[in-house]
Amino acid sequence: MNSGQLSHEQRWQGVKASEQVPIPSQMRAWVLGDPEELTLINKPVPVPGRSEALVRIDAVAICATDLEILEYGTPALIEGGPPFNKNFTPGHEYMGTIAALGPGVDEFEIGDRVTVEIHAGCGQCKRCRMGMYTSCHNYGLNYGDVDKGHRANGFTTNGGFAEYAINNINTMIRVPDTMSDEVATLVVTAGTSMYGLTELGGLVAGESVVVIGPGPIGLLAVAVSKALGASPVILVGTRDNRNEIGRKLGADYIINPKNEDPVARVKELTGKGADYVIDCAGNETTVNQSVHMTNRGGRICLAAFPKKPVNFDLGYMAVNNIYLYGIRGEGRSATHRAMAFMAEYRFDASLIHTHTFPMEELPTAIRYAKERIDDAIKVVVTNKPQQEK
Ligand SMILES: [Zn+2]
Ligand SMILES: [Zn+2]
Repeated sequence: MNSGQLSHEQRWQGVKASEQVPIPSQMRAWVLGDPEELTLINKPVPVPGRSEALVRIDAVAICATDLEILEYGTPALIEGGPPFNKNFTPGHEYMGTIAALGPGVDEFEIGDRVTVEIHAGCGQCKRCRMGMYTSCHNYGLNYGDVDKGHRANGFTTNGGFAEYAINNINTMIRVPDTMSDEVATLVVTAGTSMYGLTELGGLVAGESVVVIGPGPIGLLAVAVSKALGASPVILVGTRDNRNEIGRKLGADYIINPKNEDPVARVKELTGKGADYVIDCAGNETTVNQSVHMTNRGGRICLAAFPKKPVNFDLGYMAVNNIYLYGIRGEGRSATHRAMAFMAEYRFDASLIHTHTFPMEELPTAIRYAKERIDDAIKVVVTNKPQQEK
C-alpha cells in the first residue's frame, strides 16, 4: 500500500495523539545526500503503526558509527543498498517524549519520556526468536516485497536527527524524572557493553575484566563491569584524560601502553591473565594483545569493527581454549537492564557527556565529535531550547 495515496485522516486512523499538543504534518529533519552531505529539510511526520509509537526527539548523541555512516554508508543499509541520496535521516542514540501511539498500543502513555534501543528485529527469524534481534536474519528487509518489518533506526530506517521518529514499543525504555536528557541518550551505549559482558559473555561477579580503548563503549564497559561485580577492572588506553574518566567510572587499574606493556602488566595484576577482555579499539595490535592477556578458557569480546582483515595469534587462542566473539549492538533487552543500573546511579554516565548543541547545529556537533575538539567524548544535539550547562 502506498501511504502517499491516503489522506491525512486515513494515515492517522487508529492513532492516539494528545488533543492539547497537535502533531504537525511536517517536521524538520536532516537527510543524507552524497557522503558527508547533510541537509536540513522538511519531511512529513511519520505515522506509527501497530506496536509502534511516535517519539518527539528531545536529544540525540553522536556515535562513532554515525561518522562511519556519513562517510562510507555502511553499516547503514537503505532499501538494500547504500544510504546516500535516499532521503534517509541518520542518528540512533536518541531519547524523547511519546507524542502518539499506534493502533492497539497501551504499554506507554502520551507524554512518557523514553530512551530507545536501536534494533527491533523482524520477530520471526531464528535469531529474533532467541532474543538476538540485533543479529536478525532479515536485517534491513523492510521495504517492497521483502518487507519483514525489521527496523534499526538510523541504520535501516529513519533515525533521530529530526523532530520525530517512529519506534517499536520493544525498543523504548521509560526514563526516570531524575535523569537528564543527555544521560538518557547514553543508556543504549551502556546496553551494548552489558550485552557483550553478560548476555554473550556470561560474566559473573568476581571475574577479572580488561577493557581496551577508552571510547564511549569502553568507558561504559568499565562502569558496567564494575557495577556487575567484576574484579579487578582494568582499563587500557593511551589518552590520559579519558583514562582518568575510566578511573572515576570504576577502573581499579589503568594501563597506558605508551608507558608499559599491557600484556605483561595484566598478567602481573591478575596472575594468569584476565577472564574477559573487551577490545573496543579493534586493530591488529589490540586484537593480539587481547589474545595474549586472556587466561586459559577466558573470553574476548570484539566490540569494535576492524576495517580490514587482521593477523592474529589464532594458534595461541586455540591451544589455550580462549573464546572469541563479536557483538553487534544491544540484543536480549540488555539496554533495559542497563537502565536499571543507570536509574540507580550505579555509575555517573554524565562524565562521558561533554558537549551539547542545538539540532540546527548538527554539522558543528559532528565536527566536535569527529575531531575531538575540546576533548569531546559524547556530543549531544537537542531540539529543546538550550540551557546553560
Ligand atoms: Zn551508536
Ligand atoms: Zn529477525
